[in-house]
Amino acid sequence: MVGRELITSTDVAIVGGGMVGGLLAAALAAGSPTRNSPVNHGASSTHTINADSAFATTTKPLSVCVIENHFPDAFNPGDDPSYDLRVSALSIASQNMLVNVGAWQGVLARRACPYRRLSAWDHEGGGRTDFDANDIDQDFLGHIIENRVIQLALLDRLKKLSNVSVISPARIEHYSTQADTVQLSLSDGQVLQTRLLVGADGAASSVRKMAGIALHKSPYDQHALVASVETELAQQDITWQRFLPAGPQAMLPLCGKRASLVWYDSKEHCEQRLALSDEDFKQAVQSAFPADLGGLDKVVGRSAFPIAKAHSESYIAPRVALVGDAAHTVHPLAGQGVNLGLMDAAILADLILSTKDKNRDIGSQQLLRRYERSRRFENQLAITALDTIYKAFQPQPDIVKQGRSLSLNTVNAFSPLKSLLMRYASGVGRDLPSFAMAQKR
Ligand SMILES: Cc1cc2nc3c(=O)[nH]c(=O)nc-3n(C[C@H](O)[C@H](O)[C@H](O)COP(=O)(O)OP(=O)(O)OC[C@H]3O[C@@H](n4cnc5c(N)ncnc54)[C@H](O)[C@@H]3O)c2cc1C
Repeated sequence: MVGRELITSTDVAIVGGGMVGGLLAAALAAGSPTRNSPVNHGASSTHTINADSAFATTTKPLSVCVIENHFPDAFNPGDDPSYDLRVSALSIASQNMLVNVGAWQGVLARRACPYRRLSAWDHEGGGRTDFDANDIDQDFLGHIIENRVIQLALLDRLKKLSNVSVISPARIEHYSTQADTVQLSLSDGQVLQTRLLVGADGAASSVRKMAGIALHKSPYDQHALVASVETELAQQDITWQRFLPAGPQAMLPLCGKRASLVWYDSKEHCEQRLALSDEDFKQAVQSAFPADLGGLDKVVGRSAFPIAKAHSESYIAPRVALVGDAAHTVHPLAGQGVNLGLMDAAILADLILSTKDKNRDIGSQQLLRRYERSRRFENQLAITALDTIYKAFQPQPDIVKQGRSLSLNTVNAFSPLKSLLMRYASGVGRDLPSFAMAQKR
């Protein structure tokens, strides 16, 4: 007991109610990933049904507490034409996770833009790859969704679950570990006791710092200038990216005539473009972006973000796990960051729930090591692959330029390789945790 404060107990405490922390909380509350298990709706059932979710728990559900510093404001898409500048390309596997925890309807009720095609080309070398959902027998490759939409849909879901409590606004100030528990002190004076503390608190994670886990971080020479624009013509079902020596230019479609543009360049160039008037910025985009963009009606908002690759030395400490950007950040050029983080959450949820169903300790070092083994290597591969793409498109000798264009053309021409890459990026047909798989219902 710490002084005068009342201690509240919870099975799992998650610091950070962003997309990754929210998904983890909803997955833990949704219950054991027993796929297609018979669900008994009778009053005498021993199953706890979490309405809207694909899963059912067979024993008492875990209690979960989410501590979030600041949630986005609720908004009604009909009344709010403004778009969050931060958008994500969500893979099919990530969409399945949101479906399985009962949050996907909340996303669709706000807004999400599906895309069926994805093109990437090398401006200098001329190489090009075009992906199409038909090639992997899917209806689409993914959805472009505002980050706040995903976060709010998950928050709606959490509020409906009696075994989840959300403490906000609050930050973690300090924690200490005992043999079987962790005790957290929060900025609002509350003290929590938990069996497992999860840091889902983003790239500047306080939990990671408090756990004394080192971070290997290398900033890129590029910043990402993100602009929300209105286009003359309605968006099609395509997202594209053109690689230039200064950095890629990307177009992510949003609903109707909206699009999100990402213009990677040096910090100085991004700052200069941010300082332009809307009209001058619109002209700069029109003259620098490929003709595929078409005409722009107006620039609605813009901001620039520094980008870095980072990997924490470890994902775990005694009774502590890190997920999402708290554990790793990647170059956003392939839109994989949050998809990797959501996969952390899905795998950790599977491990915790199956351990709980065996009445074993959900904060044990054994569970934590299994989690780290199943995620750290894969995330390292992603960091390295994206770093390699970044470097390949930096100013390079002619031989490298020819090689990278040849690679793009080869992927385009060789359908098994193309299909493999598409399946990996969209999370289809891989060995996936239960929470990431489409339910046969
Ligand atoms: C320009 C750009 C474009 C990107 N595009 C894509 C894309 O297309 N696809 C993709 O998959 N990824 C993309 N990403 C990456 C993606 O945005 C991140 O990977 C994702 O936001 C990480 O989610 P998270 O929940 O781990 O962390 P965050 O989104 O950072 O959420 C952390 C949460 O924790 C809260 N928090 C922080 N500290 C505390 C504390 N001490 N106490 C309590 N709460 C706290 C914060 O308020 C926040 O809500 C992009 C990134 C950038 C920079």
